[in-house]
Amino acid sequence: MADYKAPLRDMRFVLNEVFDVASLWAQLPGLAEVADAETVEAILEEAGKVTSRSIAPLNRASDEEGCHWKDTVVTTPTGFPQAYQTYAEGGWVGVGGDPQYGGMGMPKAVSAQVEEMVNSSSLAFGLYPMLTAGACLSLNAHASEELKATYLPNMYAGTWAGSMCLTEAHAGTDLGIIRTRAEPQADGSYKVTGTKIFITGGEHDLTENIIHLVLAKLPDAPAGPKGISLFLVPKFMVNADGSLGERNSVSCGSIEHKMGIQASATCVMNFDAAVGYLVGEPNKGLAAMFTMMNYERLGVGIQGLASAERSYQNAVEYARDRLQSRSPTGLKAKDKVADPIIVHPDVRRMLLTMKAFAEGNRAMVYFTAKQVDIVKYGTDEEAKKKADALLAFMTPIAKAFMTEVGFEAANHGVQIYGGHGFIAEWGMEQNVRDSRISMLYEGTTGIQALDLLGRKVLMTQGEALKSFTKIVHKFCQANEGNEAVNEFVTPLAQLNKEWGELTMKIGMAAMKDREEVGAASVDYLMYSGYACLAYFWAEMARLAAEKLAAGTSEEAFYTAKLQTARFYFQRILPRTRTHVAAILSGASNLMDMNEEHFGLSY
Ligand SMILES: Cc1cc2nc3c(=O)[nH]c(=O)nc-3n(C[C@H](O)[C@H](O)[C@H](O)COP(=O)(O)OP(=O)(O)OC[C@H]3O[C@@H](n4cnc5c(N)ncnc54)[C@H](O)[C@@H]3O)c2cc1C
Repeated sequence: MADYKAPLRDMRFVLNEVFDVASLWAQLPGLAEVADAETVEAILEEAGKVTSRSIAPLNRASDEEGCHWKDTVVTTPTGFPQAYQTYAEGGWVGVGGDPQYGGMGMPKAVSAQVEEMVNSSSLAFGLYPMLTAGACLSLNAHASEELKATYLPNMYAGTWAGSMCLTEAHAGTDLGIIRTRAEPQADGSYKVTGTKIFITGGEHDLTENIIHLVLAKLPDAPAGPKGISLFLVPKFMVNADGSLGERNSVSCGSIEHKMGIQASATCVMNFDAAVGYLVGEPNKGLAAMFTMMNYERLGVGIQGLASAERSYQNAVEYARDRLQSRSPTGLKAKDKVADPIIVHPDVRRMLLTMKAFAEGNRAMVYFTAKQVDIVKYGTDEEAKKKADALLAFMTPIAKAFMTEVGFEAANHGVQIYGGHGFIAEWGMEQNVRDSRISMLYEGTTGIQALDLLGRKVLMTQGEALKSFTKIVHKFCQANEGNEAVNEFVTPLAQLNKEWGELTMKIGMAAMKDREEVGAASVDYLMYSGYACLAYFWAEMARLAAEKLAAGTSEEAFYTAKLQTARFYFQRILPRTRTHVAAILSGASNLMDMNEEHFGLSY
């Protein structure tokens, strides 16, 4: 039953009404010509159709079938190759790609919407184009002209795919200890040897060729993260005329059997003196890979949004159909044996939580995407610097917060279906299984939290945080005394002030005890996520209140926005109190425990 319709009305609301991105694009050379309102509208309409008609219907069957591995060959589930071809032929893989090499050149705020749609349709399917687009971004930024000209056009066209080969059995979070080696050859190429695990789309039957971006160490490399280089390793060699040559010595040893995203091939990849080409400078590979990783981090955050949206849509339909018990305030469906469960306050609590997360996070994604566009296309150096700081601040929050609450929303989806939520036929348990990975790959929530608090906030003496809180402050000042949104602006202003003070307290505590950062980090990240969402909901509420006051034919839409904002502020935002208490409790309640005492109860 689980189904998906692209939420185009809400996407237009955020993009055009809340953030007015069209005015921004008009000022950015490179975007003004391509991203006019009509083209963007046509793109979103079409993406909505392609994803909901060709991909979403494959979601459940592809989960049941999974991927197949036989003698190094990986086959994706029935329907995937055809759907991928349709998707690639529409130009969707290269929707945000560089037009110089055949990409569509659309702003991130548009490609992020396409990403949301494809991920809501099928998280497993969405990973294949996501990895390809990320690899293209890294190649475009760091590879030689020759590599770009050879590889990018086919990758943007979707006839070749990309993969990201970082993880090894003993090296996940800590990439500084990888063992894969690259030996320089006389012709300027390298021979790459090693085994990578958990490689998404490392091998499959969707494209003619797969272009692996591989982290490896040169023979004389310094130890640790400063000794890592990045290599392009194709599955098939490419001849001088661009045609495919012989098979490179890279192969898939096996695929993983896992909790979810069964239709995404998670591969063990063996590189056996495979021919590779250096991307960027020697020993600077991690930085080059970060171009891809930052892209994927926002992409994985979008998976969290997509999970919330898909679960929400299905839960609303079910809650309207399922008849159980009567409303405590009298019969609502008099002609039925019972009322639909949507009448019950607790079901509404879950539905509104899902709605608040999906729509609030949509605003978070487009706000972050807007910064990507300013950094990439802007000409005003000051504005670019600000956007870059904001982007650095938002990326770990978007990745970790959106996936944590996306998973929560997927769980509410199961709960609303009752026992049926646990039954595979309805598709809700798949949402939970599929969305669980998003909190792990591309850096776990714990690692994103350390990045946010340690590297982004404390190491910049709070400057990164201020890049966001200044915006909130300006909004609160501008709306001071605005009766229509006072209920949001007052608590938001208090929270914004507390955010800075809390950060100072953690910074002071960390000067005395370095464990304080790690002890506070995940609570700090979640606090920050709820605070960001409070700002986005306040902005959306202001706009909705204005529309309602001016008179609108869409009264229901804007009233629902205001009511969801109210729900968010009154019922979700208080979660920040728990996070503050946990943060201020300090590191000692974690670190005082003797390591041996963890095992005394069994
Ligand atoms: C389905 C799937 C697809 C994947 N796709 C890819 C891919 O395409 N390419 C790729 O290269 N990798 C991929 N990965 C690997 C993924 O990115 C890693 O699993 C992830 O980064 C975590 O690494 P790990 O599993 O080794 O966990 P570990 O690094 O061993 O971490 C274990 C736990 O310790 C915590 N931890 C570790 N270090 C610290 C620290 N310093 N401070 C606090 N806590 C810490 C972590 O947060 C985690 O909770 C994939 C994994 C899966 C399961």
